[in-house]
Amino acid sequence: MGETQSDQEDRTAKPPGTAEKPPGSAGRHPGRRALLIGGAVAAVGTAVLARDELSRLWWRVPGVEKPRTPGAVDFPGATWVAASSANYRRADRPDDYAIDRVVIHVTQGSYASAVKAFQDPGHQAAAHYIVRQRGDITQMIRELDVAFHAGNRSYNERSVGIEHEGFVERKSSFTDVMYTNSARLTAEICRRYGISVDREHVIGHVEVPGTDHTDPGRYWDWDRYMTLVRRAHRTAA
Ligand SMILES: [Zn+2]
Repeated sequence: MGETQSDQEDRTAKPPGTAEKPPGSAGRHPGRRALLIGGAVAAVGTAVLARDELSRLWWRVPGVEKPRTPGAVDFPGATWVAASSANYRRADRPDDYAIDRVVIHVTQGSYASAVKAFQDPGHQAAAHYIVRQRGDITQMIRELDVAFHAGNRSYNERSVGIEHEGFVERKSSFTDVMYTNSARLTAEICRRYGISVDREHVIGHVEVPGTDHTDPGRYWDWDRYMTLVRRAHRTAA
């Protein structure tokens, strides 16, 4: 399940459109982000900012964000159900943050309860995908965006989070079709971002530094899953 600690953004920052105003003109100091963006705009052409920093910021300038199609999914066959925008941070991955991890979760509840939680702006957590016991895949956050699922800011920024419908203490939660379809999803994510298909890069929530979560738990069959992911990865290639 997703978790929230140490993942909150500085929400006091002004929106990008106000960044050009000089400090103090609006009667208060602009947020740190607004200053950074203003600085990035001013630095274009003078190369004052490091290239990496610019690449993280350029799309925040109004009008240059990648176009998005409402309801579009990143995995063919997934069904789109939007999460609350409070449960993720809009981004432009992999251009602003490289993606090199897939994080496996278990919902600890029904599919419906997970959808409801991810649509709740007060939940403050959500994953990109939910795989159901019957195999269907729902996408709730675009891979472009940083979902709050790992409870660790840098791991959120670098990963795609996949929830699985069920309970860690119930082996029967993890059905054949869930393993197969989840493995296809993970293989496709690894293929698109050039992520190595191994246990260093496909990890459980339990393996995220600093977490106190235990999912996917002892009944998740990693050997079986990674075999399926490797097979799907070869097929996709
Ligand atoms: Zn989790």
